[in-house]
Amino acid sequence: MTKQDVFGTQAGVNASRALAASMWSPRSLIYRLSSAVKPLKLALLYAAMRTKHRKFWQLDPNLAISLANLPPLESPKYLGLEVINTCNANCVFCEKQFSRREPAVMSSDFARRTITDAISLGCTGITFSCMISEPLLDKDLYGKIQHAYAEARRMGRSVRVWVITNGTLLAKNDNYKRLIDSGLDSLSVSTSSFDKTEYEQIYRIRKYSQMLEGLLLLLEENQKANYPVDISISIRTGRSLAAILLDSDLQLVLPFVDLRHVTMDFTHTYYDRDPRIEAMLTGRMRLRKNIAAELRKRPCEEAYSVLVTPHGIARMCSCQAGPLFNATGQDELVFADLNHVSLPEALRTRRKAYLNKRFMLGDMPSVCKHCDLYRPIPAVQ
Ligand code: SF4
Ligand code: SF4
Repeated sequence: MTKQDVFGTQAGVNASRALAASMWSPRSLIYRLSSAVKPLKLALLYAAMRTKHRKFWQLDPNLAISLANLPPLESPKYLGLEVINTCNANCVFCEKQFSRREPAVMSSDFARRTITDAISLGCTGITFSCMISEPLLDKDLYGKIQHAYAEARRMGRSVRVWVITNGTLLAKNDNYKRLIDSGLDSLSVSTSSFDKTEYEQIYRIRKYSQMLEGLLLLLEENQKANYPVDISISIRTGRSLAAILLDSDLQLVLPFVDLRHVTMDFTHTYYDRDPRIEAMLTGRMRLRKNIAAELRKRPCEEAYSVLVTPHGIARMCSCQAGPLFNATGQDELVFADLNHVSLPEALRTRRKAYLNKRFMLGDMPSVCKHCDLYRPIPAVQ
């Protein structure tokens, strides 16, 4: 199945036009002209990554639109499926190291049912996996991805599917090829820099060569197939952007980075969810600054997401994972246990209505008041 099968709609036509336009955009043209000149390419990449980095954490809480114009919270736009809640890495900045949850994999039947419900409810994006997990450890990941596309096609809907991975398993069992063949829209590879010593220091695993091999195979395969998958490479580093751009292994990756199909970003800042993390950060790594609670009058973008855990817990927001690490797996944003009710029923519960109202009235649950991932919903969704 191809993306053309899924997007055989007006939305698909619009997306194709947007893509064609972007190919001739000034930024794209300048970039393509300069691609043969390595210093200029590095300078452009530096500028692009710095801009993205700034946008990512400098938030504007004063966007002026009325609450009446916001899309309703009753119908979630995005589904985050935590298909597995374990990971084969042990990053210094990740809460995984403190997680007390029982390891679990989401059953195939449950995942398929939830995906079908979400698409029929109008979800336009599905992410495998969010939170603290490595989705390539789930043996049925491809079955779940294919089910999402098949159901979207059956219902005449369009859905974008996104996978987030640490990249260490891309070379294993031809995962790099299977991901591309799956019809996936986007893939994020979250890694440290392309320096083995720093990678082992931050990810605390000895899988640097597997990650690099898998990433290069993935990039090559995607290029050969004419870029069916949008790939982003996210760098978690303690060094300066200028320093990481000069890493010798990065020079193997750079020829594939075109800022259109293959992008890169980096960050020095991390979620302020557990005070124990701060002591483990190295170099320029630091915890993010929060927006003052009194400025958080608009609903957070993440309020339009539903996260479903392998244990069947449904929660608003697929970002702020901290509270889910407690032994009960419950927090203020949890609104249902999908082992007892379906997703459509869960969205009509009093609990969900209560949470929607609090977000809409600017009285966000306390977990949101100090969450460093708060992003006010923009005027146009
Ligand atoms: S790879 Fe991701 S989920 Fe795994 S430990 Fe690192 S940050 Fe956490
Ligand atoms: S403020 Fe944080 S916890 Fe609340 S919805 Fe946004 S990302 Fe989630």
